[in-house]
Amino acid sequence: NAFSDMTLHDQLAKNIRDYNWDKPLLVQRVAMRPISEGRDILVNAQTGSGKTGAFLIPIVNNILLNKRSDEIPGVGGIEGINPRALILVPTRELAIQIAREAVKLCRGLKKEIIKVCNLYGGTKRTTQRFEAFGADIIVGTPGRVGDILFPQVDGATKVIKLIAKFYIFSKQNFVNCDYIVLDEADRMLDDGFGTTVLEIINRIEAKREGNPITKVLASATFSADIQTYASAVLRPN
Ligand code: AMP
Repeated sequence: NAFSDMTLHDQLAKNIRDYNWDKPLLVQRVAMRPISEGRDILVNAQTGSGKTGAFLIPIVNNILLNKRSDEIPGVGGIEGINPRALILVPTRELAIQIAREAVKLCRGLKKEIIKVCNLYGGTKRTTQRFEAFGADIIVGTPGRVGDILFPQVDGATKVIKLIAKFYIFSKQNFVNCDYIVLDEADRMLDDGFGTTVLEIINRIEAKREGNPITKVLASATFSADIQTYASAVLRPN
């Protein structure tokens, strides 16, 4: 039960060693394999248990070892939104903390190889939208992530709808978004993000032509609400 038992990308393995993570913690031993294999999982773990690494290591590894399934001109590169993984969290602080840990795991790798970005409210939407271009891992809060990935154009004027169609929606693609993590899912439900999160999942899944997304639901508590939500969201395996 060591990190060296896993098939890890060389640089990732080195970064884990440099981090002085000698062996996987319990939650990592339990969760890393199913996540690597693309199985949905409900991780019942507290902060401090190592749960962030438990989902980040297999996701970063998957991004580094597997190429994008489909390079779409103008979308897969720096000029479009085409993430490989989406991590939704209840707060801006947690988003920043997870992105920081992801960046550490990716040390020594250029942004063209793997890029991490944060999306959260309270900062300029247009700036964040550009930061999301070319990002492989998007870590953010549900409201702002929904806003940026699926801008609301329902009530917009004809001109805005046209701009959205040609400028915004033509520059994003989710065929490569293989992972969605809902971290501190109990807190996201308490804060009323449940519906927004479901909407984001459904909209991304709708664009994947039947290709399921691997979903990781991490929660410190195991309430009836979480169990109901998990059974609605996770595929049995
Ligand atoms: P988390 O529960 O994800 O917030 O992680 C709690 C702390 O455990 C963080 O400071 C991590 O750097 C640390 N950590 C995560 N995985 C390991 C590991 N395998 N060995 C030692 N420390 C770890």
